[in-house]
Amino acid sequence: MEAIIYTIIFITGALFGSFCTLATYRIPRHQDITHTRSYCPNCNHKLGFFDMFPIISYIFLGGKCRYCKQKISPRYLALEVFSGASFLALFVFMRIDLLHINVYALCKFGFFALFLTYLFLTAWIDKENRKVEKGVSIFGIIISLIYIVYLCIVEKANIYKYAIYIGFYILVLILDTIVLRKFAKNKYINGLLLTLITMAIFTKEYIAYLTVTATCLSIAIYMLIIKLKNIKNKSLKSDKQISSTIPIAYFMCMSNLILLLYFYGAVYFKL
Ligand SMILES: [Zn+2]
Repeated sequence: MEAIIYTIIFITGALFGSFCTLATYRIPRHQDITHTRSYCPNCNHKLGFFDMFPIISYIFLGGKCRYCKQKISPRYLALEVFSGASFLALFVFMRIDLLHINVYALCKFGFFALFLTYLFLTAWIDKENRKVEKGVSIFGIIISLIYIVYLCIVEKANIYKYAIYIGFYILVLILDTIVLRKFAKNKYINGLLLTLITMAIFTKEYIAYLTVTATCLSIAIYMLIIKLKNIKNKSLKSDKQISSTIPIAYFMCMSNLILLLYFYGAVYFKL
């Protein structure tokens, strides 16, 4: 019984991951993500029902498109497995009792499943395009607001604390629409701020603080590697040129996900 439920959770995670890879490709290209069927980006052939199973289709088709035999990047497979594994880890660490399924516990897992999807979307789009998509940020804000309502009603959480976060959201959004539009500045930083607020709401403040620290550290290491590579290739890129290409939101989301799983895991294993 347990194994069946775990498998279902893993597959659900892989399905969400599969959706995220599709959305990562389509959202920056302003394509529809819900109504149009998946298609091969090489031959444009619409994918059949059996081509769309995450992981399994990839293995059965040998990592190639069924129609044009174009190789599909193993990245997709890796992301689906990663997403499935994250869902499963969270489900196990949340200690959802399989014999006495509790509606509230399931609700909470549902919220975190949406939150993980949000992290994946933000991270992967940023990695490909170095951009925090506004639509994805809005999705984050909507799930946070519903989650706050849930916390205040079901878990009797302190509403004032969350009112401050809602205030931050409004502030950044006002900044985004009025100030930046006027001066035509880069909106990347606003996207990062919105991402950070959403993280603080879902993963509590201390994980959000640690996320910022971990992000700075990983970016420092990343820059060092890029610099060493540039020295080796005798590239003359300045620090400014390098830093404008760093996918900061990607590092932020991955740090947040790892820390979230680490803290839940630590409680689970009584570390
Ligand atoms: Zn194809």
